[in-house]
Parts: sequence; structure tokens; C-alpha cells
Amino acid sequence: MLLSIKQYGDAVLRAKSAPVQQPYDEHESLVQNMIETMYAAEGIGLAAPQIGLNIRLVVIDIPKDEADEAGESEPEEMISVNGEQMPLSSIMPLVFVNPELEPYGKQGLFMEGCLSVHELRSNVARPLHLRAKLTKLDGTVLEIDCGGILARCLQHEVDHLDGFLFTDRVSSAGKLTLAKKLKRLMEYR
Ligand SMILES: [Zn+2]
Repeated sequence: MLLSIKQYGDAVLRAKSAPVQQPYDEHESLVQNMIETMYAAEGIGLAAPQIGLNIRLVVIDIPKDEADEAGESEPEEMISVNGEQMPLSSIMPLVFVNPELEPYGKQGLFMEGCLSVHELRSNVARPLHLRAKLTKLDGTVLEIDCGGILARCLQHEVDHLDGFLFTDRVSSAGKLTLAKKLKRLMEYR
């Protein structure tokens, strides 16, 4: 079932989301609908607040070609999962609750967009690497150490759980350019 994606200006996108309580797998059908909605909208990530629920739940699916476009020259990006190197695609689609992120290393710019901020894209500076603890619906924990598009996507999605949008994180010069467009989004939503 397709869910409606909340748009810029909706208060649900600005609230801090609550931790998901056990049993996590009672959210299984919600997750299926979120994945279906994300695919239909051609997104690579969707956080629960974007479909109107302030809980710390995220779905991500980074297709192989997107990972290559992120500038990784390898045929497929490798990431560390529980201490083992594996291809990024081996953990997709990635569904998790109550994430803990620890971004590190130098910052870099990357063009971001968002299913809740239609038609707008902007360069955003964030740390290029991170360590993450992601709890899957079956309760198992993935400890990830990565760079590339997954590091970017995780920071973007977890921002949603804290009420932030990528537009909050663009440079002040970038914000000036965005201001008019964001005002228009507020008027036409
Ligand atoms: Zn987003």
C-alpha cells in the first residue's frame, strides 16, 4: 500500500521522534508499505516521520548504480559490517530502528535531495565517514563502518528522526538561494 509522503512545512517533519519499542517486528507491514512507497517515489531512503509517524524507524535501499555514481571507482562499494568487509548491496534493503550514528573524518559536499522537499537539491557538507549501530526488526544489531553514499544517506535519514531536513544544513550562501524556493513550497503545499 502506498503511503502519502509528508511535505516541507508539515509539523511532523520537525518533531523529535521516539524510540521504537519491542517487539520491533510488529512494524513489519508498515515497513513493507514504506519500502513500496520509497520505490514508487524513486527515493533511496525513507524515515517514519516522512509518512507521518514520529518513531525512530528508517528504510533504505541504495541501488548498485547509485553507489557507483557516488564516485567510488570500484565495481561495487565495500563496507564493514560487524567487522567483515562486504558489498553494500548485501545489506539492502536496509531496515532499522533506534540508530546510533558516530560520523567521523573530514567533511565533504554532496548534492542532496529529499522526498519531503520536492524538486529541490542542494550541496550539503557532512562528515564523509561514520560508524553506526543499526537494530534490525528481528533485534539483531549491525555495526557498520562506511563512507560513500551509505554514510551520506544514513546521516540524512537519521536527521529526519531529530526533526532536521537537509535544507537546514546548507551553507548560508546556499540558504539564500533556497529561501525563495522554500517559501514557494510552503505556499503551494
Ligand atoms: Zn529526506
